Amino acid sequence: MAPDRPRTLGRVQERHVAKNAPLAPLTTFRLGGPANRLVTATTDDAVIAAVREADDTGTPLLIIGGGSNLVIGDKGFDGTALRIATRGFALDGTALELAAGENWSDAVARTVAAGLAGVECLAGIPGSAGATPIQNVGAYGQDVSETLTEVVAYDRRAGETVTLPAAECGFSYRHSRFKQHPDRFVVLRVRFALEDAGGLSAPVRYAQTARALGVAPGERVPLATARETVLALRAGKGMVLDPADHDTWSAGSFFTNPVLTEDEHTELVRRVRERLGPDAAPPAFPDGGGRVKTSAAWLIERAGFTKGYGSGPARISTKHTLALTNRGEATTEDLLALAREVRDGVRDAFGVTLVNEPVTVGVSL
Ligand SMILES: Cc1cc2nc3c(=O)[nH]c(=O)nc-3n(C[C@H](O)[C@H](O)[C@H](O)COP(=O)(O)OP(=O)(O)OC[C@H]3O[C@@H](n4cnc5c(N)ncnc54)[C@H](O)[C@@H]3O)c2cc1C
Repeated sequence: MAPDRPRTLGRVQERHVAKNAPLAPLTTFRLGGPANRLVTATTDDAVIAAVREADDTGTPLLIIGGGSNLVIGDKGFDGTALRIATRGFALDGTALELAAGENWSDAVARTVAAGLAGVECLAGIPGSAGATPIQNVGAYGQDVSETLTEVVAYDRRAGETVTLPAAECGFSYRHSRFKQHPDRFVVLRVRFALEDAGGLSAPVRYAQTARALGVAPGERVPLATARETVLALRAGKGMVLDPADHDTWSAGSFFTNPVLTEDEHTELVRRVRERLGPDAAPPAFPDGGGRVKTSAAWLIERAGFTKGYGSGPARISTKHTLALTNRGEATTEDLLALAREVRDGVRDAFGVTLVNEPVTVGVSL
């Protein structure tokens, strides 16, 4: 790596540029080859300048936040990787604005400390604030689309900064307009409307969280208790980053929960009964429009892939069936081979094709 001289504007160093830069250390999988060029930008202006530079020269661009939802190919990235390292946490009453580079989980902790409800169950989700709208991050009964009001983004097609109200972000389960058109918007700032519920959380919706808290679903609990309970539940599943624990060298859930049409669900029930007996039934949650969401983890386990599955350097987490992990010596190809084995095994057993949640770069499943 040969760093260029940093460009300084006034007294603020806005960006750092490195060549032939390893990307693996920037991802939670710790996988992937180098980028031709890695730009680390610490202001919105530096982010926009780097994006424009790449677009003007026709250079492929990869935006990296915390690298916790990225599978980068072993050959790396033939272009410019732009690491968003902007900072900014601003509260005005219940209105919150975060710079894209803010650490999401730290920001959640600060909202809880400020006595504001709405994102406390999203504690412990790794990565940056700017990436939260990309797949509409969610966990334990909350997702960002419920509290997010606006996304300020650089629109690469229009060549200008735009403010998109939540209604224009196309949010759905683990999806958004940003994920749909990954080469169009670079998120600069994310705005939320939180709730002052007198130190209490939003109503607890997720059954497992309610059980752990000893309350009925719909009740509110002290904010800090909600956050700590979620963090404890997550840690037990290897879903809180811990460099010493290979179960967390992952991208969290590798597959999304399948959302099935009524016919697809009927067929799944038939295949499950055929394979597991007449009383067996896959989990089913109504998802609107007659569609049914089922559990990827349930399907994976019933297809024969249990926690810890695998004999190579990429294995299923010992704490959670949905997390594929790097045990330390894996390559991206090892990881993808495991992912394909699980996907194909579930399809052969139940006729459902699982879709990967993390974004793949230079490779595909
Ligand atoms: C242990 C673990 C647990 C997890 N648990 C959850 C969970 O409970 N719920 C959940 O939803 N996710 C979970 N994830 C996935 C991940 O943390 C989230 O998707 C997170 O939002 C990714 O943020 P990031 O900054 O790391 O994004 P990156 O991995 O850096 O990038 C992901 C994608 O977003 C794009 N991107 C990033 N920043 C920007 C930006 N500013 N503008 C435009 N595009 C951008 C990237 O180009 C890439 O396509 C988990 C991951 C791990 C490792």
